[in-house]
Amino acid sequence: MKYIGAHVSTSGGVENAPQNAQSIGAKAFAMFSRNQRRWVSKPLTDKNITRFKEHCKKGGYDPRHILPHDSYLINLGHPEDQALEKSRTAFLDEMHRCEQLGLKYLNFHPGSHLNKIDPDLCLERIAQSINLALDKTTDVTAVIENTAGQGTNMGHQFEHLARIIENVQDKDRVGVCLDTCHTYSAGYDIKTAAGFEKTLQAFDDIVGFGYMKAMHLNDSKKAFESRVDRHESIGKGSLGIAPFKFIMNDSRFDHIPMVLETPDPAIWAEEIQLLYRLID
Ligand SMILES: [Zn+2]
Ligand SMILES: [Zn+2]
Repeated sequence: MKYIGAHVSTSGGVENAPQNAQSIGAKAFAMFSRNQRRWVSKPLTDKNITRFKEHCKKGGYDPRHILPHDSYLINLGHPEDQALEKSRTAFLDEMHRCEQLGLKYLNFHPGSHLNKIDPDLCLERIAQSINLALDKTTDVTAVIENTAGQGTNMGHQFEHLARIIENVQDKDRVGVCLDTCHTYSAGYDIKTAAGFEKTLQAFDDIVGFGYMKAMHLNDSKKAFESRVDRHESIGKGSLGIAPFKFIMNDSRFDHIPMVLETPDPAIWAEEIQLLYRLID
Protein backbone atom coordinates (compact mmCIF):
# COMPACT_ATOMS: atom_id res chain seq x y z
CA MET A 1 0.00 0.00 0.00
CA LYS A 2 1.33 3.41 -1.00
CA TYR A 3 0.52 6.53 1.01
CA ILE A 4 0.67 9.50 -1.35
CA GLY A 5 -0.17 13.07 -0.37
CA ALA A 6 1.08 16.64 -0.50
CA HIS A 7 2.45 19.39 1.71
CA VAL A 8 -0.87 21.08 2.48
CA SER A 9 -1.72 24.50 3.86
CA THR A 10 -2.37 25.16 7.55
CA SER A 11 -3.85 28.57 6.87
CA GLY A 12 -6.37 29.36 9.63
CA GLY A 13 -4.80 26.80 11.99
CA VAL A 14 -3.05 23.41 11.95
CA GLU A 15 -6.45 21.75 12.39
CA ASN A 16 -7.25 22.60 8.76
CA ALA A 17 -4.44 20.48 7.33
CA PRO A 18 -6.24 17.09 7.45
CA GLN A 19 -9.26 18.46 5.58
CA ASN A 20 -7.02 20.13 3.01
CA ALA A 21 -5.39 16.74 2.49
CA GLN A 22 -8.73 14.97 2.23
CA SER A 23 -9.99 17.41 -0.38
CA ILE A 24 -7.22 16.38 -2.80
CA GLY A 25 -7.59 12.65 -2.18
CA ALA A 26 -4.36 12.38 -0.19
CA LYS A 27 -3.59 9.31 1.94
CA ALA A 28 -0.68 11.11 3.65
CA PHE A 29 0.28 14.73 4.15
CA ALA A 30 2.99 17.15 5.20
CA MET A 31 2.53 20.54 6.84
CA PHE A 32 4.22 23.25 8.87
CA SER A 33 3.25 23.31 12.54
CA ARG A 34 4.20 26.99 12.84
CA ASN A 35 5.00 29.93 10.59
CA GLN A 36 7.97 28.64 8.58
CA ARG A 37 9.47 32.07 7.97
CA ARG A 38 9.35 33.45 11.54
CA TRP A 39 11.37 32.62 14.63
CA VAL A 40 8.54 32.99 17.08
CA SER A 41 5.07 31.50 16.79
CA LYS A 42 2.04 31.47 19.04
CA PRO A 43 1.75 28.26 21.05
CA LEU A 44 -0.83 25.75 19.88
CA THR A 45 -4.12 26.09 21.77
CA ASP A 46 -6.09 23.18 23.22
CA LYS A 47 -8.65 23.86 20.51
CA ASN A 48 -6.00 23.59 17.73
CA ILE A 49 -4.81 20.30 19.21
CA THR A 50 -8.20 18.67 19.84
CA ARG A 51 -9.54 19.63 16.43
CA PHE A 52 -6.39 18.54 14.63
CA LYS A 53 -6.66 15.09 16.22
CA GLU A 54 -10.40 14.89 15.49
CA HIS A 55 -9.90 15.85 11.86
CA CYS A 56 -7.08 13.33 11.43
CA LYS A 57 -9.30 10.60 12.83
CA LYS A 58 -12.19 11.61 10.59
CA GLY A 59 -9.94 11.65 7.52
CA GLY A 60 -8.36 8.32 8.45
CA TYR A 61 -4.86 9.77 8.82
CA ASP A 62 -2.54 7.79 11.05
CA PRO A 63 0.33 9.80 12.63
CA ARG A 64 2.72 7.46 10.78
CA HIS A 65 1.57 9.04 7.51
CA ILE A 66 1.86 12.66 8.59
CA LEU A 67 5.18 14.40 8.03
CA PRO A 68 5.51 17.86 9.59
CA HIS A 69 8.34 19.97 8.14
CA ASP A 70 10.32 22.39 10.29
CA SER A 71 10.95 26.08 9.60
CA TYR A 72 13.37 27.05 6.83
CA LEU A 73 15.17 29.41 9.24
CA ILE A 74 16.53 26.62 11.40
CA ASN A 75 20.18 25.63 10.83
CA LEU A 76 21.14 22.80 13.20
CA GLY A 77 24.75 22.94 12.02
CA HIS A 78 25.17 26.70 12.34
CA PRO A 79 28.85 27.68 12.70
CA GLU A 80 28.17 30.44 15.26
CA ASP A 81 27.21 29.45 18.78
CA GLN A 82 24.52 32.04 19.41
CA ALA A 83 22.75 31.40 16.12
CA LEU A 84 23.08 27.67 16.68
CA GLU A 85 21.41 28.06 20.06
CA LYS A 86 18.53 29.95 18.47
CA SER A 87 18.05 27.18 15.93
CA ARG A 88 18.18 24.48 18.59
CA THR A 89 15.54 26.27 20.68
CA ALA A 90 13.24 26.64 17.68
CA PHE A 91 13.78 23.00 16.69
CA LEU A 92 12.89 21.79 20.16
CA ASP A 93 9.73 23.91 20.03
CA GLU A 94 8.84 22.20 16.73
CA MET A 95 9.43 18.80 18.32
CA HIS A 96 7.18 19.72 21.24
CA ARG A 97 4.46 20.85 18.86
CA CYS A 98 4.62 17.49 17.09
CA GLU A 99 4.24 15.73 20.44
CA GLN A 100 1.29 17.92 21.37
CA LEU A 101 -0.39 17.00 18.09
CA GLY A 102 0.29 13.31 18.65
CA LEU A 103 2.66 13.18 15.65
CA LYS A 104 5.61 10.85 15.20
CA TYR A 105 7.94 12.60 12.77
CA LEU A 106 9.66 15.92 12.26
CA ASN A 107 11.23 16.40 8.82
CA PHE A 108 14.07 18.91 8.46
CA HIS A 109 17.04 19.89 6.29
CA PRO A 110 20.28 19.01 8.09
CA GLY A 111 22.04 22.40 8.04
CA SER A 112 24.67 24.59 6.37
CA HIS A 113 28.30 25.33 7.18
CA LEU A 114 28.11 28.82 5.61
CA ASN A 115 31.81 28.51 4.67
CA LYS A 116 32.69 29.25 8.29
CA ILE A 117 33.41 25.78 9.63
CA ASP A 118 34.66 22.51 8.27
CA PRO A 119 31.81 20.46 6.71
CA ASP A 120 32.68 17.54 9.02
CA LEU A 121 32.35 19.74 12.07
CA CYS A 122 29.01 20.97 10.71
CA LEU A 123 27.79 17.35 10.52
CA GLU A 124 28.88 16.82 14.14
CA ARG A 125 26.98 19.92 15.24
CA ILE A 126 23.87 18.67 13.45
CA ALA A 127 24.06 15.31 15.21
CA GLN A 128 24.57 17.05 18.55
CA SER A 129 21.55 19.28 17.87
CA ILE A 130 19.46 16.17 17.20
CA ASN A 131 20.73 14.53 20.40
CA LEU A 132 19.74 17.57 22.45
CA ALA A 133 16.22 17.58 21.00
CA LEU A 134 15.71 13.83 21.38
CA ASP A 135 16.88 14.06 25.00
CA LYS A 136 14.06 16.44 25.85
CA THR A 137 11.31 14.59 23.96
CA THR A 138 10.03 11.04 23.98
CA ASP A 139 7.93 10.23 20.95
CA VAL A 140 9.08 12.09 17.86
CA THR A 141 11.58 10.75 15.32
CA ALA A 142 13.96 13.26 13.72
CA VAL A 143 13.69 12.73 9.96
CA ILE A 144 16.68 14.16 8.08
CA GLU A 145 15.98 15.17 4.48
CA ASN A 146 18.62 14.78 1.80
CA THR A 147 19.30 18.06 0.00
CA ALA A 148 20.29 19.20 -3.49
CA GLY A 149 23.51 20.55 -2.00
CA GLN A 150 22.77 24.12 -2.96
CA GLY A 151 25.22 26.70 -1.57
CA THR A 152 26.73 25.40 1.66
CA ASN A 153 23.89 22.98 2.50
CA MET A 154 24.97 19.64 3.89
CA GLY A 155 23.06 16.43 3.28
CA HIS A 156 23.44 16.01 -0.49
CA GLN A 157 25.59 12.92 -0.15
CA PHE A 158 24.35 9.74 1.50
CA GLU A 159 27.63 9.76 3.44
CA HIS A 160 26.53 12.99 5.17
CA LEU A 161 23.29 11.36 6.33
CA ALA A 162 25.17 8.28 7.53
CA ARG A 163 27.68 10.42 9.38
CA ILE A 164 24.95 12.33 11.21
CA ILE A 165 23.09 9.13 12.14
CA GLU A 166 26.33 7.58 13.35
CA ASN A 167 26.62 10.35 15.95
CA VAL A 168 22.98 10.27 17.04
CA GLN A 169 22.62 8.38 20.30
CA ASP A 170 19.03 7.17 20.01
CA LYS A 171 19.09 5.34 16.66
CA ASP A 172 15.41 4.38 17.08
CA ARG A 173 14.37 8.01 16.76
CA VAL A 174 16.33 9.14 13.73
CA GLY A 175 15.43 8.54 10.10
CA VAL A 176 15.72 9.85 6.57
CA CYS A 177 13.37 11.41 4.02
CA LEU A 178 14.56 11.17 0.43
CA ASP A 179 13.44 13.95 -1.87
CA THR A 180 13.48 12.80 -5.52
CA CYS A 181 14.29 16.29 -6.84
CA HIS A 182 17.13 16.79 -4.36
CA THR A 183 18.50 13.28 -5.01
CA TYR A 184 18.70 13.91 -8.76
CA SER A 185 20.02 17.47 -8.47
CA ALA A 186 22.67 16.22 -6.05
CA GLY A 187 23.99 13.82 -8.67
CA TYR A 188 22.22 10.48 -8.12
CA ASP A 189 20.80 9.46 -11.48
CA ILE A 190 17.44 7.85 -10.70
CA LYS A 191 16.06 8.35 -14.23
CA THR A 192 16.83 4.89 -15.57
CA ALA A 193 15.90 1.56 -13.96
CA ALA A 194 19.59 0.71 -13.55
CA GLY A 195 20.43 4.11 -12.08
CA PHE A 196 17.47 3.97 -9.72
CA GLU A 197 18.49 0.54 -8.45
CA LYS A 198 22.12 1.61 -8.10
CA THR A 199 21.08 4.66 -6.08
CA LEU A 200 18.89 2.61 -3.74
CA GLN A 201 21.65 0.08 -3.33
CA ALA A 202 24.06 2.89 -2.43
CA PHE A 203 21.54 4.25 0.06
CA ASP A 204 21.16 0.82 1.64
CA ASP A 205 24.92 0.27 1.80
CA ILE A 206 25.78 3.70 3.16
CA VAL A 207 22.76 4.66 5.30
CA GLY A 208 20.60 1.52 5.55
CA PHE A 209 17.08 1.08 4.26
CA GLY A 210 15.78 0.73 7.81
CA TYR A 211 16.23 4.48 8.24
CA MET A 212 13.99 5.36 5.28
CA LYS A 213 10.93 6.92 6.93
CA ALA A 214 9.47 9.12 4.18
CA MET A 215 9.77 10.40 0.63
CA HIS A 216 9.20 13.75 -1.05
CA LEU A 217 7.97 13.24 -4.60
CA ASN A 218 9.04 16.15 -6.79
CA ASP A 219 10.21 16.53 -10.35
CA SER A 220 13.09 18.96 -10.89
CA LYS A 221 13.22 22.18 -12.93
CA LYS A 222 17.01 21.94 -13.11
CA ALA A 223 19.36 19.52 -14.79
CA PHE A 224 21.01 16.43 -13.34
CA GLU A 225 23.76 17.29 -10.83
CA SER A 226 22.87 21.00 -10.94
CA ARG A 227 23.00 21.20 -7.12
CA VAL A 228 20.02 23.55 -7.42
CA ASP A 229 16.79 22.98 -5.49
CA ARG A 230 13.85 23.85 -7.79
CA HIS A 231 10.83 21.57 -7.72
CA GLU A 232 8.65 20.90 -10.75
CA SER A 233 5.27 19.18 -11.15
CA ILE A 234 5.43 15.40 -11.63
CA GLY A 235 6.49 14.43 -15.16
CA LYS A 236 7.07 18.01 -16.28
CA GLY A 237 10.72 18.43 -15.32
CA SER A 238 14.15 16.98 -15.99
CA LEU A 239 13.28 13.77 -14.09
CA GLY A 240 10.22 12.84 -16.11
CA ILE A 241 7.75 10.14 -15.15
CA ALA A 242 10.05 7.08 -15.07
CA PRO A 243 11.46 7.36 -11.52
CA PHE A 244 7.96 7.78 -10.12
CA LYS A 245 6.90 4.59 -11.87
CA PHE A 246 9.83 2.77 -10.25
CA ILE A 247 8.86 4.09 -6.82
CA MET A 248 5.16 3.29 -7.17
CA ASN A 249 5.96 -0.32 -8.11
CA ASP A 250 8.61 -0.90 -5.45
CA SER A 251 7.44 -2.49 -2.20
CA ARG A 252 10.34 -0.89 -0.31
CA PHE A 253 8.27 2.30 -0.37
CA ASP A 254 5.14 0.71 1.09
CA HIS A 255 3.67 2.14 4.31
CA ILE A 256 5.73 5.35 4.42
CA PRO A 257 4.37 8.85 3.76
CA MET A 258 5.29 10.11 0.27
CA VAL A 259 4.37 13.73 -0.24
CA LEU A 260 4.35 16.13 -3.16
CA GLU A 261 6.01 19.52 -2.75
CA THR A 262 5.34 20.42 -6.35
CA PRO A 263 4.74 24.05 -7.32
CA ASP A 264 1.10 23.96 -8.45
CA PRO A 265 -1.34 23.07 -5.65
CA ALA A 266 -4.21 23.32 -8.14
CA ILE A 267 -3.11 20.03 -9.74
CA TRP A 268 -2.14 18.08 -6.60
CA ALA A 269 -5.31 15.98 -6.79
CA GLU A 270 -4.46 15.09 -10.42
CA GLU A 271 -0.83 14.37 -9.56
CA ILE A 272 -1.88 12.01 -6.77
CA GLN A 273 -4.19 10.17 -9.17
CA LEU A 274 -1.48 10.09 -11.80
CA LEU A 275 0.93 8.49 -9.31
CA TYR A 276 -1.57 5.80 -8.29
CA ARG A 277 -2.20 5.03 -11.96
CA LEU A 278 1.51 4.26 -12.39
CA ILE A 279 1.06 1.09 -10.31
CA ASP A 280 1.17 -1.91 -12.68
ZN1 LIG B 1 12.40 19.98 2.81
ZN1 LIG C 1 11.64 18.06 0.09
